[in-house]
Amino acid sequence: MNLGIKYIYIIDSSISKQQMAKESTKSIGKTLKSAGVEFVRVLWCDNANIIRAKAFHVSTLADHWQTGVGISRAQQAIPVMYDGVAVNAGLGPVGEVWLVPDWETLGFLPFAPTHAQVMGTMMDQGQPWSLCPRHFLQRMVMAADQLGLQIQAAFENEFYLLKTNSGEILPNDRTVFAATAAMNQNYSVIDGIVAALFAQNIQVERYYPESGPGQQEISIRYASALTAADHQIAFREVVRGVAHQQGLVASFLPKIFTDQAGNGCHLHFSLWQDGENITPNPQQQGHLSPIARQFMAGILHHLPALMALTTPSVNSYRRLKAHCWSGAFRCWGYDNREAALRVPSNPQSPSPTHIELKTMDASANPYIALGGVIAAGLDGIRRQLEPGEPVAIDPGNFSDAERQDRGIDYLPDHLGAAIAQFSQNTVLQEAMGAELVQAYLAVRQVEWEAMKDMNLAEEVHLLLERY
Ligand code: GLU
Ligand code: MG
Repeated sequence: MNLGIKYIYIIDSSISKQQMAKESTKSIGKTLKSAGVEFVRVLWCDNANIIRAKAFHVSTLADHWQTGVGISRAQQAIPVMYDGVAVNAGLGPVGEVWLVPDWETLGFLPFAPTHAQVMGTMMDQGQPWSLCPRHFLQRMVMAADQLGLQIQAAFENEFYLLKTNSGEILPNDRTVFAATAAMNQNYSVIDGIVAALFAQNIQVERYYPESGPGQQEISIRYASALTAADHQIAFREVVRGVAHQQGLVASFLPKIFTDQAGNGCHLHFSLWQDGENITPNPQQQGHLSPIARQFMAGILHHLPALMALTTPSVNSYRRLKAHCWSGAFRCWGYDNREAALRVPSNPQSPSPTHIELKTMDASANPYIALGGVIAAGLDGIRRQLEPGEPVAIDPGNFSDAERQDRGIDYLPDHLGAAIAQFSQNTVLQEAMGAELVQAYLAVRQVEWEAMKDMNLAEEVHLLLERY
């Protein structure tokens, strides 16, 4: 297996992302050639969260390295079901934007060794396009910066490894949470995934088999917001690419089996100022700083609408159920796995170091989801919102009336409800801008109409390999 080779190459040649950015076309070409690359994939992630790419051959590097590849504007109007333009998206067959490589994101692909990938930013007449998801996140990073804040984040993915047996989809193991048997049974594929993540300078932190049969979790190191979202794209590419190479199907679909655990993609984030983590309260060990509380309150306030960005598929709502540790309730708590926002404690001082949003899955475009979370959090800071008391009970054990007394809501239980909330939310809409909102909503709406009456088997058939 040649999986290790690219990893060794990258480490030995000590090419940091910053250095790469400074390289001229000549040295980028040299780097690509010596890595044996034939094609460079320029990636984008659309409003339906499909990862797509157009690749150019290295021999044409001089023509592409700065201007990138052209894509139709209508690409931002395509739903997950088929390649057709959603009505009312404000986009049609006329017009092109340019997907310009961000060379700092260059990554090599051990599962497709003659291909490399870079993330693209959509450019329109030399300016970032208002509908570009990556640019939306960049704008939110700048908005935070204007308040003197930097956001660090990591997406924590769960996914299923599956095998197909004469058309039937079967889990690759039949074990339970953290079972060492699963570590042995999936050893080769996990090893390949980890090598491929390191090959892209993504630092792996922890791995364990998750609760569902065939379900896995690999967590990676946090990074600044834009890099974290880029890593989420690279992570999904690696997991699916390596699994495919080894004859398996990997799927991040939020709910695959009715009676088994869903796939979360919890978003971990922290607030920083001048290189210092300001999430913990320096005066009160174990508690959040006032600004972190406000940021969290903003997310809780906007969460029903934000879910159109963080849990945006029809299938997402099959996962969001009581007692599934998936963040189905609008509340927060210290180490409470049923709360939408969990504040994990740890033995470090100061603690807590970060906050986790559980009401999120990998059917979400990571740029749009994280951009929306930042917009909601900044609104909480501007309005000095308070998140209320932490919840230290399982809200699913209480009646609606009892929950109401404690200020806990059940969050939207279907995509239609989240779309309706988002449609009325001026804070999130202003952050995204009218054109991105129009296209994004058109895609969500056509997906909702197409899938709202499907049963789980039909959803799985359609979506298993899309996410
Ligand atoms: N699988 C759960 C989810 O859907 C999460 C379990 C956990 O806390 O890791 O979010
Ligand atoms: Mg987990």
